[in-house]
Amino acid sequence: MIDKKNSQLKCSECGRDRGELSMRFIDDKPVCLNCLYGSVDPVRIWPIGFVVNDKKRAHRGFGATGGDVSEIRLFPGMARFTKGLADETHLTVVWQLHEAGPIKSVFRRGWDAKEVGPFASRSPDRLTPIAVTDVELVEVKETALTVRGLDAVNGTPVLDIKVAMESLK
Ligand SMILES: [Zn+2]
Repeated sequence: MIDKKNSQLKCSECGRDRGELSMRFIDDKPVCLNCLYGSVDPVRIWPIGFVVNDKKRAHRGFGATGGDVSEIRLFPGMARFTKGLADETHLTVVWQLHEAGPIKSVFRRGWDAKEVGPFASRSPDRLTPIAVTDVELVEVKETALTVRGLDAVNGTPVLDIKVAMESLK
């Protein structure tokens, strides 16, 4: 986890001293952003709303506990973008894994215990903590969307909503 204080750390790969804010912890060792990403700039994304439900994160890598129905509360400023939404049956929700844990480069994935890296898994502990879930749209009331099948926990930032392929059938 990145702390607010910017103490100096040595990158475990290139050996350069860098501020803690220029590091990520991979397998519990500091790795500088340059070793991970080269010189690319980060992408900045705003949430469009939040998830309200009774789900909490289950033990690592195995989804969330709680009921199947969630509410997606879009910000009031999003109301102008919801035309036609209520006519759809299924949506693809893009959301932030805001409770993601430490990143491991290799681990045993949940469903078959095979040793893999995060790109060959569905682990929430990943470099880019973004998830995508197709959900059933139950009801739209202004900027409040009731959906079924969203595996995000309570308080999750929602980044985008789009019509799922299922809705086109
Ligand atoms: Zn480095």
